[in-house]
Amino acid sequence: MTDHEPTHLTDADEAAVDDAYVDGNALAGDLLEIFAMDMTTAVGTCGGCGRTAVLAAARVYRRAPGVVLRCAGCSHVLGRIVRAPDRVVVDLAGLRSISARLPD
Ligand SMILES: [Zn+2]
Repeated sequence: MTDHEPTHLTDADEAAVDDAYVDGNALAGDLLEIFAMDMTTAVGTCGGCGRTAVLAAARVYRRAPGVVLRCAGCSHVLGRIVRAPDRVVVDLAGLRSISARLPD
């Protein structure tokens, strides 16, 4: 390492991180396929801070391997969706609970 290499995030780096996510509505297609119902209106409770909000309000990061869903309140990882050619793996371990309205 030289004296010129940054040892912490610059303002530009932090702006890039802030722009790295979209809201949970971006997961509508993935979740509809997996759960066969619209899950963006499902209410989840964050396992990190206890915040309760619809999944559409979460932050979705698509640059990670797979898709990472983070709490908008504390950035706790709520879940991950990883696709392989013949399967999809859903990890919702970061959610304390999830409540979805059943279709009529
Ligand atoms: Zn949280």
